[in-house]
Amino acid sequence: MLLIPKTMQAVVYRGANDLRLETVPVPRIGPGELLVRVAVCGVCPTDIKKIQYGTIPPPRIFGHETAGTIVRVGSRLQQFRVGERVALHHHVPCLECHACRHHAFAQCAQYKRTGITAGFEPAGGGYAEYVRVMPFVLPGVVRIPARNSFLEGALLEPVNTVLKGVKRLALLPGDTVLVAGQGPIGLMFTRLLALHGMRVLATDLLPARLKLARAFGAAAVYCPESKVQSPKPKVEGNPKPEARNPKSSITHHASRITHPAANPQLSALVHQLTKGRGLDAAVIAVPSDAVVREAQALIRGAGQVLLFAHTRRGAETSIDPATVCMDEKDLIGSYSSDYLLQKEVARLVFSRKLDAPRLITHQFPLAQTAAAIELASHPTAESLKVVVVQDE
Ligand SMILES: [Zn+2]
Ligand SMILES: [Zn+2]
Repeated sequence: MLLIPKTMQAVVYRGANDLRLETVPVPRIGPGELLVRVAVCGVCPTDIKKIQYGTIPPPRIFGHETAGTIVRVGSRLQQFRVGERVALHHHVPCLECHACRHHAFAQCAQYKRTGITAGFEPAGGGYAEYVRVMPFVLPGVVRIPARNSFLEGALLEPVNTVLKGVKRLALLPGDTVLVAGQGPIGLMFTRLLALHGMRVLATDLLPARLKLARAFGAAAVYCPESKVQSPKPKVEGNPKPEARNPKSSITHHASRITHPAANPQLSALVHQLTKGRGLDAAVIAVPSDAVVREAQALIRGAGQVLLFAHTRRGAETSIDPATVCMDEKDLIGSYSSDYLLQKEVARLVFSRKLDAPRLITHQFPLAQTAAAIELASHPTAESLKVVVVQDE
């Protein structure tokens, strides 16, 4: 029998930018629920946004990229055992409603409910010692194999959101895809797209991140700030210098005329990589409207721009609607995870094909969760994925 205390430590959100380490009751579970002792919880940008801008009312306990050990099983549950190491999903769709029948799980009313809590209004609860797992998210409980760590388990949810984004793109092997922003999410896109046989052009303001993008399979990298390609992209064939090739000079000139929104160097690089065709798709993993417009200019006709980091409501931006109508350039979005990808994601992470733990650069104890969130929201040249760790 595991001895479970009556109270625990938790990091409670008390208002905008106000996180406090408090002693709260260990959640009580119902007959159809689980109690999990949290081992690792990843720091996710969507939580950071809620905490910093105070967009939802306090008090709450955040943290939703959670892995841990089952310490209590509700009397009605047969399929779980105390001691099992698990990764959790705080959102699970019903699979039956109108949205679910259209495979729009993130729009399902059940999916929008948070099914994991450490107390107060459910908000994930991962920044606490114990969480209660409610019946409707039990299908989202994934067992962690003995050879894998809690750190790997905590990466299932973010990797799932990225794989869902990749599946939104209509790509053929060998296609060229821009991934703008090489933070933890952008790097996962780079890796997953490369694993799917795409040629990735990775951009970021931090050269250290571009180096990792290379290691994760990017075919070319570009740093907009330094105005230098770093390092020089490898391109198949050897395009002749434009000055000596009037034909290519004309094409290039033409491409510049149709790409007024794009940085000329990036534009030239895309031209070179795609033999003048344009990008097949672009993934925007930075919340910048200028980058969206640039990507819109750089994709080919009937290409796709996927928004992945635009999570602040109320912003307005201008896009020429004719590029969508006549050029058939799709502007699409992807948010949150896809329940049906759980098995594929577990295989990718647990087989270590994805090498996701390499993205974890900083681990903080529970008491320093506020510092973890501060670092994740103001990344340094070296910092990528930040996690709160209670047990490895
Ligand atoms: Zn997340
Ligand atoms: Zn549904």
